[in-house]
Amino acid sequence: MFIKDILQQNPKSFSFEFFPPATPEGFDTLFKTIEDLKLLDPSFVSVTYGTGGKTREKTVSLVSDILNKIGTEAMAHLTCLRSNKEEIDEVLTSLSTNNVSNIMALRGDPPKGYSSFPEDEGHFTHAIQLVEFIKSNYKQCIGIAGYPETHQEAVNAQTDMEYLKLKVEAGADFIITQLFFDNSSYFEFMDRAIAIGIKVPIIPGIMPITNVNQIIRITKLSGAKIPKTMLDKLYSIQDDPKSVEQFGIEFSLMQCQELLKNNSPGIHFYTLNRSRSTWEIMKSLK
Ligand code: FAD
Repeated sequence: MFIKDILQQNPKSFSFEFFPPATPEGFDTLFKTIEDLKLLDPSFVSVTYGTGGKTREKTVSLVSDILNKIGTEAMAHLTCLRSNKEEIDEVLTSLSTNNVSNIMALRGDPPKGYSSFPEDEGHFTHAIQLVEFIKSNYKQCIGIAGYPETHQEAVNAQTDMEYLKLKVEAGADFIITQLFFDNSSYFEFMDRAIAIGIKVPIIPGIMPITNVNQIIRITKLSGAKIPKTMLDKLYSIQDDPKSVEQFGIEFSLMQCQELLKNNSPGIHFYTLNRSRSTWEIMKSLK
């Protein structure tokens, strides 16, 4: 089923994001976790695409198995920056053949040390070109990324928002946001999106913290900000993993409750393949 239809039929959607594990054993464990999470009745789950397409086969196979063996709606992420058009076309054909009807169309990150990309006929340089390619050649429903705190390479917040609008006009059906810890950044982003004329649903992306060093690494890479009071609290408990996990659950739960109360169309959980926090938060929300 198309996620745009799921979003239309459900006032609140709940989705979980996973990445393809490196080993066959990891793959089996994750598969079992996703099977168990079915009890929470997720609206859909999504599977990331490793930098530069390095998880191509694993992403296609995991998404297809979740959809066809577990029976949960599943979306494949697809990045375009470091692949040529033929490779992207092959992945899309393979996903279509496996009945995967939802694609998260992304640019991907440049390799370390690079700030510009080859602009030639064989490569895409921005996500909008991937959206246009899917729209012209395939029938899939398309999700795109949005950045409440502005993408780190963007000239400024207004330009970033104008490019987001162009991606929607090119054919995107919904937006999932980068993770954030300050809900006011999402509410302001929503106001600016509505003001510029974006009408598709914008699902907030929430990451429950489970490890201090890991969240610092992730926020550095993604450009998401950790509020100072939160960082101070995290440093004060960082040697006690249980307290960090509990703090992560309570903080995310508070974020989710406020977002849902203020009209967010649902929540997308960045699970990092760890299900306990998502379980706890979902149990409280439901
Ligand atoms: P774009 O929309 O192309 O934007 C990138 C930058 O270029 C922005 O600064 C924007 O303002 C600017 N821009 C946009 N269009 C134009 C244009 N036409 N001309 C000039 N400038 C332009 N990465 C992965 O590798 N794998 C994943 O599975 C993955 N999943 C993600 C899921 C979500 C929900 C999010 C929020 C991010 C995800 N990412 C993933 C990270 C993403 O690939 C990076 O954030 C990347 O740097 C930008 O991707 P984008 O699709 O937003 O790019």
